[in-house]
Amino acid sequence: MINPDTLRPLISPYRITTGKKFNLESCKTGDTGEIKEKGEAREILEAGVARIAELQDRLYAQDQWSLLLVFQAMDAAGKDSAIKHVMSGVNPQGCQVYSFKQPSSEDLDHDFLWRCQKCLPERGRIGVFNRSYYEETLVVRVHPEFLSKQKLPKKLITKSIWEDRFDAINNFEKTLVQSGTIVRKFFLNVSKEEQKKRFLARLDDPTKNWKFSSADVTERGRWKEYMAAYEDMIRHTARESAPWYVVPADKKWFTRLVVMAAIIDALESLDLQYPTVTDSMKKDNLAARKLLEAEK
Ligand code: ATP
Ligand code: MG
Repeated sequence: MINPDTLRPLISPYRITTGKKFNLESCKTGDTGEIKEKGEAREILEAGVARIAELQDRLYAQDQWSLLLVFQAMDAAGKDSAIKHVMSGVNPQGCQVYSFKQPSSEDLDHDFLWRCQKCLPERGRIGVFNRSYYEETLVVRVHPEFLSKQKLPKKLITKSIWEDRFDAINNFEKTLVQSGTIVRKFFLNVSKEEQKKRFLARLDDPTKNWKFSSADVTERGRWKEYMAAYEDMIRHTARESAPWYVVPADKKWFTRLVVMAAIIDALESLDLQYPTVTDSMKKDNLAARKLLEAEK
């Protein structure tokens, strides 16, 4: 059983529920909270992964709530590995992961939420978005040429387009929450220096070469613009009911702990119970038992 006193310091310093005073520069990328070393983190993660598995089993059995986990970050911040480690104990039947890349021409023929709406988790399930509709306020904002390829009517591309997108996202998430989907959003906050180290490691290791794309270095050149876009995104879309977690991402072992803790916290807030067996079901079960026992 994982102790609430262990989880609390992993959650509260990183959870953003209102954008009013949010300032990205004050968020430390290398923070490891009260955890001093990797070995200590490994034990906590193991216990946490087991707890997530238990809670997910109940979520699936109860079949009422669903959980949407949104991951956003610069390249090599550790989205893939956080998802892999934190979700490693979860029954694949109750979980789905979608990675959103450049939109297809079919995607661009619809509103920007469309392709994500199709991938939302059903009741009882956990859905992971590896990138999401938030890209529409990040990469598309940093690259105005992407916006011009979206086939939007010209008169709709106004100065307020980003505000309009934030409004659309807030309304969308509000509807999800009101329909029983719990929304938790993670920005893995890696430093520019650590990203460089990870890119170089990808170039050095033949088994990691495939993860590297020269375009990643071009995007890195726009670091400041991306950070401004992330900050504005969090300011506009952090909500009590759909919080952002700005997760220190220079130490991958700490990133995983924060993500793990936030997921446990979200699931525990639901008081998930296995469905109870009614008297009439008990009667049916007794009859079924008799039939089974009467078989030769
Ligand atoms: P990795 O960490 O392994 O590199 P990744 O998530 O970066 O994983 P890639 O295939 O490298 O995956 O990149 C996907 C690309 O798709 C990203 O550069 C992202 O910005 C881009 N993308 C996602 N959504 C949109 C969008 N709506 N419009 C334009 N580009 C998008
Ligand atoms: Mg990439």
